[in-house]
Amino acid sequence: YDHVAQSDPAVAAALAQELDRQRRTIELIASENIVSPAVLEAVGSVLTNKYAEGYPRHRYYGGCEKVDLVEDLARDRACELFGCAHANVQPHSGANANLAAYMALLEPGDTVIGMSLDQGGHLTHGSPVNFSGRLYRFLSYGLDPKTETIDYDGLERLAREERPKLIVGGASAYPRVIDFERLAAIAHGVGAKLMIDMAHIAGLVATGAHPSPFPHADVVTSTTHKTLRGPRGGLILTNDDALAKAIDKAVFPGTQGGPLMHVIAGKAVAFGEALQPEFAAYIAHVVENAAALGEGLVAGGLRLVSGGTDNHLCLVDLTASDVTGRDAERLLDSVGLTVNKNAIPGEPRSPFVTSGIRVGSAAGTTRGFTADEFREIGWLIARAVFGKDDEAELAAIRARTAELLAAHPLYPEL
Ligand code: PLP
Repeated sequence: YDHVAQSDPAVAAALAQELDRQRRTIELIASENIVSPAVLEAVGSVLTNKYAEGYPRHRYYGGCEKVDLVEDLARDRACELFGCAHANVQPHSGANANLAAYMALLEPGDTVIGMSLDQGGHLTHGSPVNFSGRLYRFLSYGLDPKTETIDYDGLERLAREERPKLIVGGASAYPRVIDFERLAAIAHGVGAKLMIDMAHIAGLVATGAHPSPFPHADVVTSTTHKTLRGPRGGLILTNDDALAKAIDKAVFPGTQGGPLMHVIAGKAVAFGEALQPEFAAYIAHVVENAAALGEGLVAGGLRLVSGGTDNHLCLVDLTASDVTGRDAERLLDSVGLTVNKNAIPGEPRSPFVTSGIRVGSAAGTTRGFTADEFREIGWLIARAVFGKDDEAELAAIRARTAELLAAHPLYPEL
């Protein structure tokens, strides 16, 4: 960060400290990843200088010929990656993608059914503190308490009673395969549209490691920075021409001004990477490593919600220990393991405390950790949780995570 260091030492110091933090911790937050140096460079490029309201060849500013090339590349690659006809790559984030998709599909006050936040859904799927819950009449579905998997029958009953205009599928903390065909049958059976928010599993969908929401969903939204391993941002996909037009209008001018062309360049690069055979191999390891992580956690005495994982994450029930999610987050941070607290089904504690943690394999797999190492990491988490008052035990775990980190250096080129 030479230039930042010269002109702004305070910001440069924070940037350097963050790089150091990322190097010194095993990143297990399931929604994070580590982008390639090529994506970093694109996002840090001169495209940040450019205003480009509108879409390629239909802009409200001059001088957009070059950024048009970039946006076309991003759109074409997104369509190729997910096997669909239309992509809008301008949403600034996943929340913005959902905001625009709702604007394209709904009028304020319309009835929608989404997965509730405390059962694994996202804030933008109807939480009362979010625009979604304030603008639309959101009802929620959740998990079958026995299997801790999506209660499709309950959703179907609710949909028949309420006749929503839209059903939203997808989740932030769900470790199992989502049955998009069943969701579409339920939605279309009551005359509703189906929107799938595949933010977490987009990388798995891109390579076929999770079934695709197409051809079942009417609209698909995503973030680009989780398993898809691009820059922070959003994406909206559809095969329906009329919806494509409505979505483009809802993104701009409906909910955003100028697109972040430097981020769209990063998306284009990331989608190009995801089209390579190496990315399919990466995602296969992500899935294998999440399973190994789960095995280690169970071997250490912790319970996995739903009994396991099919994707990149495990939801861990800590009730066998007397550690809350909040305390586990802090404790694990102190031994070099970064996780986030998460509600478990039937959560007795507040969302700020919780009884669970969510762990994922996407970032660690990018860094190069193997399945055996992930199994050990799962076991180290359990050891730390059960040994929280044993300083010698915690020191041993800290030393071991440091060894694992040293074996897989992060951004050696920086
Ligand atoms: N949708 C889902 C399912 C998510 O998990 C997330 C992020 O965690 C989002 C949307 C929102 O993405 P962003 O944080 O980019 O707004």
